[in-house]
Amino acid sequence: MSRPTRFEEFRWLGDKRTQTVHDLDAITDACRLDELMAAETYLAFGPDTLVEARNRCYKPCRHCARAAEDAA
Ligand SMILES: [Zn+2]
Repeated sequence: MSRPTRFEEFRWLGDKRTQTVHDLDAITDACRLDELMAAETYLAFGPDTLVEARNRCYKPCRHCARAAEDAA
């Protein structure tokens, strides 16, 4: 799974439907990012950090964001 070109400059991508945040540096097929792009229910964070995503009540994706969460 490759990073969506429109999010080249971002690392963290939120899914508004599930309040899940994905790590685009570690994205997996299980994240269903193609489906999320099609649904257009995503958002980026400012600043582009996992801490900011968490502050907005987004949960780290269990497929891609777990490693980053463990490191935090
Ligand atoms: Zn994910």
